[in-house]
Amino acid sequence: EGFHAADLELLSARSIAPEDDASATEDARRVGRVDGGFGAVVAWLGRDLGASLRLRSPVRAIRWRPGFVEVTTRGAPILRARTAIVTVPVGVLVRPASAGGIRFEPEPARVRAALTGFAMGSVVRVTFAFAHDPWERIAHGGARRLSFVQLFGDSFQVAWTAYPRRAPLVVLWCGGPRAGALARDGRAAVLATARRELAHALRTSPTALRSSLRGAWWHDWDRDPCARGAYAYARVGGEDASRRLARPEEDTLFFAGEATDPEGGTVDAALASGWRAARQVRSRLHGARTR
Ligand SMILES: Cc1cc2nc3c(=O)[nH]c(=O)nc-3n(C[C@H](O)[C@H](O)[C@H](O)COP(=O)(O)OP(=O)(O)OC[C@H]3O[C@@H](n4cnc5c(N)ncnc54)[C@H](O)[C@@H]3O)c2cc1C
Repeated sequence: EGFHAADLELLSARSIAPEDDASATEDARRVGRVDGGFGAVVAWLGRDLGASLRLRSPVRAIRWRPGFVEVTTRGAPILRARTAIVTVPVGVLVRPASAGGIRFEPEPARVRAALTGFAMGSVVRVTFAFAHDPWERIAHGGARRLSFVQLFGDSFQVAWTAYPRRAPLVVLWCGGPRAGALARDGRAAVLATARRELAHALRTSPTALRSSLRGAWWHDWDRDPCARGAYAYARVGGEDASRRLARPEEDTLFFAGEATDPEGGTVDAALASGWRAARQVRSRLHGARTR
């Protein structure tokens, strides 16, 4: 569960086991934070794309044959190209076209087979803004060095501060099946649970906590038609699913996104997969050497 956001009955233990010479905690020590939020990364990536970037144009259908792709979107002209890189989440890829997924004509058989190796994880993340730094209550003057605390409530597992910035913020995290169940209860229940469990951790009452609350944010990734879950994880037997999904279909449809990278589940993995797919396409179109 936790940060893999996975159902322990389904998760492949082999997929998350550290490599022979790696420490299980090594990655956890290298936690970084993007100043300004991840929106800054997306803006930086799109800085040179100008009008060729078409937002709010969800892809409905991809018709293809070797060396030719035709992409139908809602609200934009049909796009035609020799190749396409598909980077939608696994949750969208496995969705039937009749339920808002993408219609592939013909079905990319190898990709469909690879997708059976994945499940989508659930995450509930709640952000609270307060009038005053809530951590001072328990940190006794050490709040500026506090990065996160582990919680032992029924739902939320971790609460982050805004470290290294100082801001009266708390980010609460719940991952795995309990996140899916909590999200199904809806916004009011999610926020009430978050307030109750955070109040317990801060040794105050939900009522007192609420009186100093200035804002609360939550997003339902499971129901978001552009996500259908938080991020993917490998099912038992699906250890090589990311490698299989990273292989192009007839050198025409290329796949990227966090699920296609062996690390998975992070922005790092998504970026690495984008570089890999770009190299594959360049190699296909120009015969350039791939590294
Ligand atoms: C709550 C939460 C917190 C996280 N925190 C962190 C963190 O702290 N650090 C970290 O490294 N990772 C974090 N992650 C994971 C990280 O966000 C993902 O691994 C990463 O965003 C995956 O990138 P991606 O490009 O594969 O997919 P996405 O970021 O999901 O991008 C897929 C894109 O496809 C678009 N799309 C979907 N359907 C269609 C369609 N039909 N037509 C056109 N476009 C479509 C979507 O709108 C979206 O823009 C977090 C994830 C969640 C849910």
